[in-house]
Formats: sequence, C-alpha cells, structure tokens
Amino acid sequence: MSADELIKPGEGRAGDKPYYLPSGPEVGIFEQCHASKLAAMLKGPTGCGKTRFVEYMAWHLGRPLVTIPCHDDLTASDLIGRYLIRHNGTEWQDGPLTRAVREGAICYLDEVVEARQDTIVVLHALTDHRRILPIDKTGETVRAAPGFQLVVSYNPGYQRMMKDLKPSTRQRFVAMDLDFPAAGQETRIVMQESGADEAISRALVELAHRIRSLRDRGLAEVPSTRLLIATASLIGNGIPVKEACYAGLISPLSDDESLVGAMHDLVDATFV
Ligand code: ADP
Repeated sequence: MSADELIKPGEGRAGDKPYYLPSGPEVGIFEQCHASKLAAMLKGPTGCGKTRFVEYMAWHLGRPLVTIPCHDDLTASDLIGRYLIRHNGTEWQDGPLTRAVREGAICYLDEVVEARQDTIVVLHALTDHRRILPIDKTGETVRAAPGFQLVVSYNPGYQRMMKDLKPSTRQRFVAMDLDFPAAGQETRIVMQESGADEAISRALVELAHRIRSLRDRGLAEVPSTRLLIATASLIGNGIPVKEACYAGLISPLSDDESLVGAMHDLVDATFV
C-alpha cells in the first residue's frame, strides 16, 4: 500500500469490513490504547496478520488509516513534509504523518526499525502526553487531533541480528505480540482468504508447522500465513499440489539446497 493511501472507515477493500480473526486479547488491548491515547507496537513475524489487524481496528474504531512502509532511506521530511518548488514560489506539502496528525487518523509505520534513528526521533513528542508534531521548517507545532494514534510494527526475530529499537523509543509503546495463529484458526483464515476447501487448508497449515520447525536447522524465514494463502490460491486455480507448494512455499523461503530438499520431503510426507 502506498504511503498516500487512506482507507476510510467502512471503505477499505471495496467497502468491506476487513476480515480479521483475533488470536488473543489484542482487540481489547488496542481499543484501550486508542481510548487512552497510547501508542501501540505490534510485534510478530512477517505475514502473521499485523497489517490486517490494524486495517480491522481502523475500521472498527471508525478512523481513517494512513500506512507508511519504513525503509532505511525514509527521512524525517518524508514523514513530516517538505517545501515544493512551484512556478510562482514554494509551497509547503504535508507528509503522511502530518496529515494523519491533523486528521486524527491511525498512523501505521510498518517495520519501524527499518527507519533511521533520526527519523524515528520525530515520533517521540507524539507518543507522550504532549501529542504534538513540531515542524521545524515552517515553525508550526501541530497538535494531534482527537482519534490520532500511532501504531508501529516490528519483527523481533528478524531484526534482532541487525537492528533494534532504542529503549527510549520502545518504552513509549504498549506492545502486543501477534504470532502465527493456532492451527485451527490459521486453517480458517486460509480457507476464508483463498477459497480453498478445509482439507487442503488444514494440510497446508500442518505442512507449515513442520517447515517452521526447520528454523532450528537454519531456515531464517519460516512460512507465513500469507504464503499459505498464496499456495492455497494456486491449488484452487488448478496448479497441482506439489508444484504449488514448491512455487508458493518452498522457493520463496530458501535457496539452500539442503533446506529446499528437507522442505520437499515434508511436502511429500504431508501430501502422500
Ligand atoms: P504482516 O503485516 O504481519 O506482515 P499481514 O497482515 O499482511 O501480515 O498478513 C498477511 C495475510 O495473512 C493477510 O493479508 C491476511 O490475508 C492473512 N491473515 C493473517 N492473520 C490473519 C488473521 N488473524 N485474520 C485474518 N487474516 C489474517
């Protein structure tokens, strides 16, 4: 989703309520954070449902949603805004964070540790009781409109090796752990999202559990719910099961011959 895309309540995905199956107390905790004006941190592996959860909560709370994918080139100006040169002079243009602060939107910074420290620092005054965004370049201090909430996501397993959030940043958030859903729930999600039948969905979830245990053998990224849905969709569209598992699950995860071989064996053991 582009940084500029706004999902208005009730207008997300062709007007539908985003489908989200809770796996713990996250809905209630998020509601309380929203009511108490607390920033929220969603922790969990890639593809486990963090983005979908925020989309659902924005719809549920009736707030617009502004999503900002973070990366290491993201500057404070990309978040806050910049002067644009026009034929008759310069004009200030708000960035997505400033728009969210003015509109009282939920602002979701996806994979926040990817952003540089000097970019993350601009969030600090928004996460405490001040709820302000100082814009140095214009001299304006924007006070967050009611309903504004900062939400960040973070994949601890993946990023621990390279980067981490500073304690001074972490302590500004209420954290919610969102791991892959339990088998029965993940099966329901795969069925709902791909249209696959229960037997195929359940078998794919079983396969995912087996592949996830290869983490101990060096598999850095394990199959996400998202990959299971993609694989189930391939099967639903007529791709033979084992080919679909290779293209949808195995190949995206690793190039390492021994790990790929081990995953093939698990596919053969699951779909005999
Ligand atoms: P993340 O933001 O954690 O990388 P996403 O929210 O993009 O992951 O989840 C990937 C896909 O998995 C979603 O698009 C959705 O289809 C599905 N999904 C995962 N968890 C859930 C859930 N609890 N309820 C509904 N769909 C889910």
